Amino acid sequence: MRCFNVPLMAFAVMTVPMKFAAAQAAIPLVDIKSVDPTILVELRYAGRNNLTGHPLYPLGTRALVRPEVASRLSKAKTFLRHYQYRLKIWDAYRPVAVQVKLWQAVHNNDYVANPETGAGSLHSWGLAVDATLVDAWNRPVRMPTDFDDFTPAAMWHYAGPDFEIRSHVHLLQIAMRNAGFYGLPTEWWHFTIANWQEYLPPEKAKQAAQVCETHWQDKL
Ligand SMILES: [Zn+2]
Repeated sequence: MRCFNVPLMAFAVMTVPMKFAAAQAAIPLVDIKSVDPTILVELRYAGRNNLTGHPLYPLGTRALVRPEVASRLSKAKTFLRHYQYRLKIWDAYRPVAVQVKLWQAVHNNDYVANPETGAGSLHSWGLAVDATLVDAWNRPVRMPTDFDDFTPAAMWHYAGPDFEIRSHVHLLQIAMRNAGFYGLPTEWWHFTIANWQEYLPPEKAKQAAQVCETHWQDKL
């Protein structure tokens, strides 16, 4: 298992809260692919196909997470394989500098965490991923929306009429829940390790608990 202590300066911009960045510099991160090569990775912020229309990550950026997150993703992948589906990662560790850019682009706390509030985004602590399903041939399957579709259609609870979409999103949710993740009410693709608070400095965990709504709904 290869570990990375991400050099945050590679992503640094003037607006990064520097104290925050320093606290995160020591986060142990692994490449998801090094833990489980069968998990697909398409980092949407590494290309133009994202809400900003341009790449936010340097070429060759890998999908990094804390080791515990990577092993849980592998567990979710194993579950999905029984149903002939695979797991695809759209985003993983997200440097604070990139979170700042997303916040500037969206500026809506329902969808993007303000990097200067609480613990910021749990992506920036290596504790969250954005994920979807693909079929056994790596083809996209029908899901409620595309990535970063900040509309009611992207809500955790799929309210549309399509049985196939509902079954896909439920399967993803069950796989991730069984592997030890929480979801987010406004984004079906976002998952956070269930015990995320254990990985933050106590004061950050407390602040984050006040702004994060990472919980599972009663039904899947
Ligand atoms: Zn996310």
